[in-house]
Amino acid sequence: MSKIHELTPVLADQIAAGEVVERPASVIKELVENSIDAKSTQIDINVKDAGLNSMQVVDDGIGIENDDIKLAFKRHATSKINNPQDLFKVHSLGFRGEALPSIASVSDVQLKTSTGDEGTKLHIRGSKIESIMPSESRRGTSITVSDLFYNTPARLKYMKSLQTELAKITDIVDRLAIGHPNIAFSLVHNNRELIRTSGRNNLQQVIGDIYGARNLKRVIKINNQDDDFKINGYISLPELTRASRNYVTIILNGRYVKNYNIFKALTDGYGSKLMVGRYPIVTLNINLDPTLIDVNVHPTKQTVRISKEEQLCNLISKTVYDAIFPQNLIPDAMNRD
Ligand code: ADP
Ligand code: MG
Repeated sequence: MSKIHELTPVLADQIAAGEVVERPASVIKELVENSIDAKSTQIDINVKDAGLNSMQVVDDGIGIENDDIKLAFKRHATSKINNPQDLFKVHSLGFRGEALPSIASVSDVQLKTSTGDEGTKLHIRGSKIESIMPSESRRGTSITVSDLFYNTPARLKYMKSLQTELAKITDIVDRLAIGHPNIAFSLVHNNRELIRTSGRNNLQQVIGDIYGARNLKRVIKINNQDDDFKINGYISLPELTRASRNYVTIILNGRYVKNYNIFKALTDGYGSKLMVGRYPIVTLNINLDPTLIDVNVHPTKQTVRISKEEQLCNLISKTVYDAIFPQNLIPDAMNRD
């Protein structure tokens, strides 16, 4: 008798959720990335009890067509890529079609969405559609996720303190806001506003909003390019450092990524100016042809593989070095001819 059978879609979604939805902050990341992909200009996030009670993300983006709503909750259903070649030139943050079905398999989701015409309201819990009906028609999407991990007790138990979970949420919203200064973000936790950015496309201002306006005096702008890469951003002077690496944000074509080699290239640029265990505050935007990046490395898409990474790292180190040790430090007399 055969012993192998295909898993039900519900079980398959829960397995995918194990990778994509690690904790409340992962839900926020996925929902906000969807809002960014939907060309939103404003994204408002409202969280109760560090997301363990509920999380709501409201955007003013393009919305989901009525006919697509159920599909959006099916695994590997996406509007963002079509054919195998698209995988090698991904322009959007999402493309795997996994987030919504994964989230809906381990929580209770209320979705309201409209493309500007008649809108729709959907309630789905543990992958099961409870109701779907027409709704008011403001353009955009609102998703409320509650009872996260209600049906996966082991994962629920693994949650850290509310303080830790909230810190992870603010961390990811900080980075998403930094990566998208053209979008107005707000994060409210238990009715207290924690983050607000204006969406006026002023990166320096966003850095001030997030790390404190008084620190802006001690950050400098960098900007450079070679044949393959364009880099720009803000780096703190060596006198403004933190004991944690978490203040370095690397944005690759709009995607917040974690990359040790790039991190190292940045700190190398400071030469011996950084004390052991101290790290700068950096926002580094890197723009390159999407065919040079492979984002299909991990379901959370925070790890990417970059062709010509060594060339990029050299460009970064040199740019930081030139900014930290500018020519004008050469004594005046030597500058005269
Ligand atoms: P992916 O982002 O990888 O495509 P998701 O499961 O995150 O997969 O979302 C599925 C689809 O639902 C998206 O491709 C998109 O068409 C639609 N969608 C999700 N969130 C939004 C949103 N906030 N606004 C508009 N469309 C959305
Ligand atoms: Mg997505």
